[in-house]
Amino acid sequence: MNALDYDFHCHSTYSDGLLPPAEIVARAAGRGVRVLSLTDHDELGGLPEARAAAQHHDIALIPGVEISVTWAGHTLHIVGLRVDAEAAALKSGLARIREGRNSRAARMAEALAHAGIDGALQGARFYAANPELVSRTHFARFLVERGHARDMQTAFKRFLTAGNPGYVAHQWASLEEAVSWIREAGGIAVLAHPGRYRMEQWQRDELLERFKALGGLAVEVVTGSHTPAQYAYWSKAVQRHALLASCGSDFHGPGESYRDLGELPPLPAGCMPVWEAL
Ligand code: AMP
Ligand code: MN
Ligand code: MN
Ligand code: MN
Repeated sequence: MNALDYDFHCHSTYSDGLLPPAEIVARAAGRGVRVLSLTDHDELGGLPEARAAAQHHDIALIPGVEISVTWAGHTLHIVGLRVDAEAAALKSGLARIREGRNSRAARMAEALAHAGIDGALQGARFYAANPELVSRTHFARFLVERGHARDMQTAFKRFLTAGNPGYVAHQWASLEEAVSWIREAGGIAVLAHPGRYRMEQWQRDELLERFKALGGLAVEVVTGSHTPAQYAYWSKAVQRHALLASCGSDFHGPGESYRDLGELPPLPAGCMPVWEAL
């Protein structure tokens, strides 16, 4: 496999990415990606534009989504690949999550106001091209623009993560719900960037077991936020649990991401690639 061939995780302006779907697809095609999945957070609205652009650029577009989940007190992300964007349970489930995002955004703005930062809701909304999808990323862009943080990383570290002034706890969908919505939509459920969850090894194994029991099929082994040591760790973990391996850049935009579209090393030898199931 050419490392650039497959990229199963990225974002457009329909969630917290910086480029509209057509530009994401054009950029991926220009970089040599052959099979791309657009996986906006809790949102399917960018898929028609991505599909049209994919035909134009002769690249295969796998309709995707990245669903926000709360499991055992952790926020997890579950990617759905090859989902039917018209599936009723998926559509209504995501609409519910987006409503929750709206109320969370208001609470975040209140929390920031207590810390002396006014106008954060309007400020974040200014950066959210999709009014239904306000994310912490949009708050981070506002905080950087206002000079409260020198870059996105610092904005998250100082304001938007647990224990900091702009962070509020939030209840997302359950793992059961997310996996069942994806399955009912004919899709493949993938555990996104597992190396980012702060868990002990026993809990990681428990998560993989539970995920698999619910019908989850794959895990991101190669993703923009994993180190080479994590590629090796998660490659062994998926083999132990007989799950498939996925790869995706998690690209959000030029200058804001670890990896550009398709900028990924090959999956480690020994794991079964998720495209075998597509
Ligand atoms: P939300 O789903 O609204 O809580 O926002 C989560 C998003 O914030 C992730 O998908 C990332 O795009 C972004 N994010 C989370 N942590 C960081 C960080 N430390 N630095 C930059 N972006 C981050
Ligand atoms: Mn994001
Ligand atoms: Mn994610
Ligand atoms: Mn993502």
